[in-house]
Amino acid sequence: MTTNNPGFATLAVHAGAQPDPATGARITPIYQTTAYVFNDADHAAALFGLKQFGNIYTRIMNPTQAVLEERIAALEGGTAALAVASGHAAQMLIFHTLMQPGNNFVAARKLYGGSINQFGHAFQNFGWQVRWADPADPADFAAQIDENTRAIFIESLANPGGTFVDIAAIADVARRHGLPLIVDNTMASPYLVRPLEHGADIVVHSATKFLGGHGNSMGGVIVDGGTFDWSQSDKFPMLSKPRSEYSGIVLHQAFGNFAFAIACRVLGLRDLGPAIAPMNAFLILTGIETLPLRMQRHCENALRVATWLKQHPKVAWVNYAGLPDDPNHALQQRYSPKGGGAVFTFGVKGGYAAGKALVEGLQLFSHLANIGDTRSLVIHPASTTHAQLSEEQQIAAGAGPDVVRLSVGIEDAEDIIGDLDQSLARV
Ligand code: PLP
Repeated sequence: MTTNNPGFATLAVHAGAQPDPATGARITPIYQTTAYVFNDADHAAALFGLKQFGNIYTRIMNPTQAVLEERIAALEGGTAALAVASGHAAQMLIFHTLMQPGNNFVAARKLYGGSINQFGHAFQNFGWQVRWADPADPADFAAQIDENTRAIFIESLANPGGTFVDIAAIADVARRHGLPLIVDNTMASPYLVRPLEHGADIVVHSATKFLGGHGNSMGGVIVDGGTFDWSQSDKFPMLSKPRSEYSGIVLHQAFGNFAFAIACRVLGLRDLGPAIAPMNAFLILTGIETLPLRMQRHCENALRVATWLKQHPKVAWVNYAGLPDDPNHALQQRYSPKGGGAVFTFGVKGGYAAGKALVEGLQLFSHLANIGDTRSLVIHPASTTHAQLSEEQQIAAGAGPDVVRLSVGIEDAEDIIGDLDQSLARV
């Protein structure tokens, strides 16, 4: 790259990539290989001993994946990144690096439902406890911290409700207690919000969503902000104690401000194994090239759709932070002035039956459990993702009987609104 301080759109196209040194190929190749030939026995030993950077085996690293990692680290403003098989795998590796059995972490109560399950059920098997806090109340996070707490976890823009969180206020709580703040930035993407600039230490993504952007590949990314001083605490033995399998290396001493990303790779990914497929890394990398354009269009369309829904006689309410009269609008203006994102919820008059009928009548929208595709997507949580909950639990989770969630795509806004119009007319 020739400019010293490239802009976001330039980084989205170029960061981490260069013409392939072996062939001149302009596009980063899909390095579809499982392993890499060592130069000689000393080279192999140096790689295995973490004395030298280089490729060993695609469970741990891959050249296509490496370009993706460098690009996302650049877009988020982090020191390093690690790409893995899915967003859930990324979360798993983060907590594997931070937690020991008997430790706990404090997480926002309003999260993607799959994260609520992962934290509340699967993580229990490892002896990691989650404590839920109100994302709108930083004091609630502080109140739940004790000597066994190891991290705070929030979503910058919460799924499914589409509400922005006061990252700086929660980062302040984390800093005062000597804990890293982890921010899931999936729904906003770094185009809208860069959590590291507001005090986060670690950013995590489901790259399956807006980063890849086309609904074609699973992936997850961990970004190391390089901000947390692991040397100041004996709470994180994976980073601060000698590692016997690497001849006594202390990771934070050896790798400084990218030690967290290294730990997730050489301890977590190496031993737990959720590697991203090179093909998926390639597709997500290609998707990122148009991230700024897509996010602009997603936000423009979502605002037009939300504004239109708000005046519709069959619509009871619309929660979209981009609307000037939305209670979350001030936080959106502060953290995400370029737009309110693509995903939001609204209520159809007539409750459960009306919500279900609306979804069934849509033709352009795809009825499925995903967000962040170029296509417009819809789901009625009460009859699908949240069907196993009582009505009271559904309402608490923001998935009451009348709630419909949209992920507004990049088609023509008139066509998206036209589809909603014809289906609402029949509800
Ligand atoms: N975080 C958020 C906000 C999500 O929406 C999702 C998936 O929908 C995930 C994490 C999990 O990501 P993945 O499905 O790639 O494992």
